[in-house]
Amino acid sequence: MKDPLYHPLFKDMMNDVVDAGSCCQCGSCVLVCPHNIIEYVDGYPKQTAKKSADFDYCGISEGIGCDVCASACPRLWPREIHLRDAEFRGSRPYEGIFGVYRNILWPAPSGRISRSAPRTAES
Ligand code: SF4
Ligand code: SF4
Repeated sequence: MKDPLYHPLFKDMMNDVVDAGSCCQCGSCVLVCPHNIIEYVDGYPKQTAKKSADFDYCGISEGIGCDVCASACPRLWPREIHLRDAEFRGSRPYEGIFGVYRNILWPAPSGRISRSAPRTAES
């Protein structure tokens, strides 16, 4: 897992979001890029500044650093899974389709809220 303070790069965004099919087409990266490295092409960000280079290459990012595009991207870290890991670390009592949880609360017949260990498939 990435360090929560890891500063994501343009390369990360292009691989882990765009190429991975996770881009939500918000256009934020294109909007914030101060060097017009990327354009919105067919609804997705595309590196158009240096056509002979790889799709995940930005000379500014790899030279002096920048990566405000990756900082603006809502689909990069921290994602839900990273926040979950940062919050719960090794203490995850229960984890299921609702995510990590400690207790299930529900009203008892008396009307009072009671706490109980979660039901499992076996119980
Ligand atoms: S790293 Fe900077 S210059 Fe390169 S695409 Fe992202 S915002 Fe633009
Ligand atoms: S900021 Fe992220 S989600 Fe939005 S268009 Fe760019 S890569 Fe896609």
